[in-house]
Amino acid sequence: MTKILYVEDTPASQRLVQRVLTAEGFEVVVADDGISAIEVARRERPDLVLMDINIGGLDGYEVSTRLKTLPGLKDVPIVAVTAATMVGDRERALVAGCNGYISKPIDVDRFPNQVRAYLTGMEEKVGSAEEKAEYLLEYNQRLVARLEEKLHELEKANEELQRVEKMKSDFVILAGHELRTPLTVVYGYLQILQANPNIPGSADDAGSPKQLLKKISEGVERLSQVIQDILNVSLIDANRLDLAAEPVFINSVVQSVLHNLRSFGPPRQLIFEIGPSLRKLPVVEGDPRRLHQALWNMLSNAIKYTPNNGTITIDGEVLEDTVHIWVKDTGVGIPPEELARIFERFYVLEDVTFHRSSKTAFKGGGLGLGLAVTKGIIDAHGGNIWAESNGHNEIDLPGSTFHILLPIGDALKNLGKRT
Ligand code: ADP
Repeated sequence: MTKILYVEDTPASQRLVQRVLTAEGFEVVVADDGISAIEVARRERPDLVLMDINIGGLDGYEVSTRLKTLPGLKDVPIVAVTAATMVGDRERALVAGCNGYISKPIDVDRFPNQVRAYLTGMEEKVGSAEEKAEYLLEYNQRLVARLEEKLHELEKANEELQRVEKMKSDFVILAGHELRTPLTVVYGYLQILQANPNIPGSADDAGSPKQLLKKISEGVERLSQVIQDILNVSLIDANRLDLAAEPVFINSVVQSVLHNLRSFGPPRQLIFEIGPSLRKLPVVEGDPRRLHQALWNMLSNAIKYTPNNGTITIDGEVLEDTVHIWVKDTGVGIPPEELARIFERFYVLEDVTFHRSSKTAFKGGGLGLGLAVTKGIIDAHGGNIWAESNGHNEIDLPGSTFHILLPIGDALKNLGKRT
């Protein structure tokens, strides 16, 4: 069946044309603004387009020009259907790419035959070459003026977006600081209480005051971690993550991360293999506190996504002027199509309905901020981070490997200066 696309924003006109043409055996699809007209034309591949000129978004002239550049559509006849209000409207439509012009209101009796004529190749022409050149020039000038106007609008919208974005990140950063301060106080007092010999029981005695204190302090620590992650993501987003760079021994950072991770939750039966080359890595220029955080997130993930009896290998090498560090686990792995997305904020692969908050328990979930923070830190160091895995499988355990590249930089020189 011959398919006609009618681009028109007035429902009454849409209905009239639809009724007249359907009765003549045509299939009619409609679009009511410029942008959707292009989408519908691409999808529906009509045999002819009837184009109202005064439509929203791109106008009918602009849509006609665009359609004539699209593969599969450039030979489809376009007929402007519009109420002639100004001298030269017909010529304007023709220079924009229309093949013909039907004025509104349509003559219901003649309309189907007019459509048939355009379908079988009828084409109207602008009078002389000079006249055509004049209309083309006018059309070009109008297009540039529209472009300028739209660019201004876009600039304004962008400014507004940046203002709102800054307000949001300022708020999160401020709220993060405000929440962190009282938590630090709570944590400090908890430590004092825990060290108090008059508090009865031991930390392992179920239900004893000492154990309750331990549980409270674990909760507080977890809460401050979450606040820290949110704060860091906001700083990274706002490009405000400051680095206090100094020469860093990656091996020392890894050892301190492993030591720290052991204090979280009940011990897991995992084998840690530290590659012999890690110790021999040259110093890099970096912020040790931030790099600690980045490696902590990576290693805590390796622990979380590897079941008991698995192995976690940490190793490194020098690759040209960078240090290449990798963390390899024998865990559940990651589907290849998700490998890039895991570095996005709030991305968690697991079903959140089964969410279980833990830093080291098998499949203990987080907020989905860990890797976003890690990537932000590595990026801020001018480095690179990526993950490899052969897929996700909780039985076959294909494992994952996370790689980091860090530029060696001038660290050695600085170290020389200090000593
Ligand atoms: P969270 O802060 O919640 O731990 P991350 O940003 O660290 O989140 O990780 C995002 C997602 O990437 C996790 O939910 C998990 O699905 C996946 N993931 C990260 N590391 C590993 C790993 N070593 N093995 C398997 N999946 C991983």
